[in-house]
Amino acid sequence: MCDQKHHKSPEDLLNANRDWAAARLGEDAEFFKRLRDVQTPNYLWIGCSDSRVPANQIVGLQPGEVFVHRNIANQVPLSDVNCLSVVQFAVEALGVEHIIVTGHYGCGGVKAAMDKQPHGLLDNWLAQIKDVYHANFEELRLIKDERQQQDRLCELNVVQQVRNVARLSVVQIAWAQGKKLALHGWIYSLRDGILRDLGVGLEGPADLHSVFKLTEAP
Ligand SMILES: [Zn+2]
Repeated sequence: MCDQKHHKSPEDLLNANRDWAAARLGEDAEFFKRLRDVQTPNYLWIGCSDSRVPANQIVGLQPGEVFVHRNIANQVPLSDVNCLSVVQFAVEALGVEHIIVTGHYGCGGVKAAMDKQPHGLLDNWLAQIKDVYHANFEELRLIKDERQQQDRLCELNVVQQVRNVARLSVVQIAWAQGKKLALHGWIYSLRDGILRDLGVGLEGPADLHSVFKLTEAP
């Protein structure tokens, strides 16, 4: 076993990369040629930056199969040009058919939104999660175990971020045009490595409150 405190050097990473590339070619001589010419992922993954929740590995997808956006606490802030540009590109240019927002239990960003400590700029980034905490305060207050309380907010945060995706004009226009585009809300457990579907997915605007509907579904 590796000593956890022993970090690999950048040179180690470059060497590992050469080994990885050689192994891919060993399995499939056309591997890189295929990927070089075209990118056709069917999934957009919006997840947390947490190093323990790597998108491709935990769902067994290869390079070229998932378009990935990660930030602290897997958020889709409605004024974040980075995330929103990713969604637009994924929907309009790549034509992904699924957008998966994936949270995880034990999320440090969610924890930070619940504690009473100042975190500098991070407080602004986490403000939306505090809003979710506020909106669900009565439910969360009844959960006595602190970790369970945090885990429930991790779930509620995913629910909110899925709703945010559904509110985007690029998503609603795709639906109005009859494109197949399904939204999903999942949560990952660091304890057992299992992803769970929170059952808050949407395949069209039908479940959206009329306040958030930009276009009537065809
Ligand atoms: Zn996290």
